[in-house]
Amino acid sequence: MSDPDTNRLRFRPHHFLCALGYQGKGYSEAFTRNMDRIVQDRLRGKDGDAVEIEVTAQTDSICAPCPHRRGALCESQEKIETLDARHAAALKLSAGDRLSWGAAKARIRAQVKPGDLGVICESCQWLEYGMCEGALRRLHEAAQPSA
Ligand code: SF4
Repeated sequence: MSDPDTNRLRFRPHHFLCALGYQGKGYSEAFTRNMDRIVQDRLRGKDGDAVEIEVTAQTDSICAPCPHRRGALCESQEKIETLDARHAAALKLSAGDRLSWGAAKARIRAQVKPGDLGVICESCQWLEYGMCEGALRRLHEAAQPSA
């Protein structure tokens, strides 16, 4: 869920790259519906690059309907904290930072190279499908000047 007053999204650090790579798959129907609203409708919709996101160290807009959420924690809390720490370091993000989705994508492009997900996303069940790596590669390719 976004902040009801500002409509700002809240993402824990590893969810910036998850949002980039999202391809309609998730942990449950409710989770996927929420992801569709956040990623397809807002971030990839009209003016998506202007959507503001606040970094949080806890469960966030994406976690809200997740069947693995346990209050403000995840049932795999240790694994998620490790993922968050790696992504926060790679993207230079801290809890409380606010940035637009456009700025987040620029930061991903500057800080995360194709091939890096094998390290920073290690242990994520979605890694082996290659969707996130594909999205990262396309983000880099889109920034190349055309010949
Ligand atoms: S591999 Fe997992 S943690 Fe990494 S971007 Fe994809 S869904 Fe997110």
